[in-house]
Amino acid sequence: MKIRMLGAHNLESRDTRSSTLLIDSILALDAGALTSTLTFEEQLALKAVLITHHHYDHIKDLVMLGATFYNNERQIHIYAPLAVYEAVRYLLQYPGKLYIDFLGKPEGDPTFKFTVVQPLKPFTVEQYEILAVPVSHSVPAVGYQVADTNGKKLFYTGDTGPGLDECWQHISPDLLVIENTASDRYIRVAREVKHMSPGLLKEELISFRKIKGYLPRIVTTHHFPHEGEEEERRVELEQLARELDASITIGNEGLELEL
Ligand SMILES: [Zn+2]
Ligand SMILES: [Zn+2]
Repeated sequence: MKIRMLGAHNLESRDTRSSTLLIDSILALDAGALTSTLTFEEQLALKAVLITHHHYDHIKDLVMLGATFYNNERQIHIYAPLAVYEAVRYLLQYPGKLYIDFLGKPEGDPTFKFTVVQPLKPFTVEQYEILAVPVSHSVPAVGYQVADTNGKKLFYTGDTGPGLDECWQHISPDLLVIENTASDRYIRVAREVKHMSPGLLKEELISFRKIKGYLPRIVTTHHFPHEGEEEERRVELEQLARELDASITIGNEGLELEL
C-alpha cells in the first residue's frame, strides 16, 4: 500500500493543505486537498473517496472534484456517514443553486455514487477491506481502517479528541495516521473541542498499547499552522516518542509512506 499525504493541516494557505490521504493513487481519505493538489489525470484515476465527517475542511474539494468528473462524463464513488451525506446534499441542493447537483445530475447516472457507511460494518471498495469506526469528535465522525490484499492495515482517525478506548478494540493497524491539531499550550481547549495535543495523544497511545499489546508506526496530521506551534509540536512529539519508545512521524504535505 502506497500512501501519499496530500494535506496535513487544519487551515489552508499557499503552503498548507487540509486533511487528505491518497492510497495507491485510487482511494482518497477525506477531501480537503484533492483538486488543489492533484492533476486532472490524477483526479480521474480516483475510484472512491471516503469521508470521515462533515466539517468543511474535510469535504471542501468534493464539489470541484465533482466538476472534474461531471465534465469528463465520469462517476466517482463517495462513502461517508449519514451526516456527511446530509451536509453534501444540503450544499448541492441549496435552493439558490450553489452549483451543479452532482447527486442528481446527469439524470439517471449522477456524478456522485454516494454510499452511506454504517459504523463497524466492514465493506469492500475495489481491493480494500474497509471498516468505519466511531471516534470522539464534536460532530459524528468515524476513522477508517483500510486493509489491502496483503493484509497490511492503515487506520486514519480523521478529527478526534481523546476517548478512543472503544475505537482501539476494533482495529489492528500497521500504521496509525492520527490527528494532532495543537501543541500542549492548547491542551485544555483541545480536550474541550475534541482535538488532540501531544499530552492527550500520550494517554490514547498508552491505552492502545494496553488494549492491543503493541504500538503501530504513528504519523500525525491536521496540524495547526500557528506562530510557534510547529516547533513546540515537534519538541513535544519527539519527547513523547522517546517516552513511549514509539515511532512518531510528523506528517506534512507530500509525505510518502509504504506499507
Ligand atoms: Zn478538521
Ligand atoms: Zn472536525
